[in-house]
Amino acid sequence: MSSATFRKHLRLLDEYGMYPVNMRDLRSHTALARVPKGMVPVVLTFDDGRRSQFAMRSDGSPTSSSAIGILEQHIRDHSPRWQRRATFYVMPKSIHNPEPFHQNGLAASKLKYLVDTGYEVGNHTWSHRSLRRMSETQVAAELIRCFYGIRALCPAATMDTLCIPFGEYPRFSSWRRVVANPLSQHTAMHSAVLMAWGGPSYSPFDKRYDNLRVTRIGVSPNELEVTLKGLSKNRTWYVSGGEEGVLHVPSKLTKYIATSKLQGLTTRVQ
Ligand SMILES: [Zn+2]
Repeated sequence: MSSATFRKHLRLLDEYGMYPVNMRDLRSHTALARVPKGMVPVVLTFDDGRRSQFAMRSDGSPTSSSAIGILEQHIRDHSPRWQRRATFYVMPKSIHNPEPFHQNGLAASKLKYLVDTGYEVGNHTWSHRSLRRMSETQVAAELIRCFYGIRALCPAATMDTLCIPFGEYPRFSSWRRVVANPLSQHTAMHSAVLMAWGGPSYSPFDKRYDNLRVTRIGVSPNELEVTLKGLSKNRTWYVSGGEEGVLHVPSKLTKYIATSKLQGLTTRVQ
């Protein structure tokens, strides 16, 4: 995507009243309730740790032409209400990939900048090879090696959401357990697992939301424009009620509320 297109997309998200959050924020109502009342949460995701996403100047700040520089300039100039939030799915340096963001020796400072500022750093596997034909053990190793490789560079990175390379999921029947919890711990490692396409995601309180198959809006020409227009016309997006503990639900949508996902939330039908 060109810088001009990215700037245009940010202005569009702002015009539609959207508000950036991190991917991990979809796990809890507490985080989503911090979205100002009336605004629609959106997660900006950046895959593969490319240099164009985050090039760094010698003083440690992002260059104005990299995605992170463009986003921060946009917030200063147009969207002062926005927090600096976005999720970066990266792989550690290996025989398969250069260090995250491809600028020699700067990966640790960049990851620290991201985490300290409030952005999220997530798991994009160790090698970035397709998981489709891998065994359970191989898939678990891909996820665990990425986790520890990035944690070694940036101990504060949460690494608790995962993006599947090319959207190609493993084919074995126990894939859900392995991608969510590759170390078989008491608490799953990943609270969300992302696909590569599929359009806007359902609300995390919707029956149709699958936290291990979260869809994304792509960046092919006009995809964002058409998607936002449709969502806005049908008013089928999640709008923050700005009130912790309460989920406001339009009466025509109550049938979609997943009671099991409410975690003590009160629903108020409008
Ligand atoms: Zn990728």
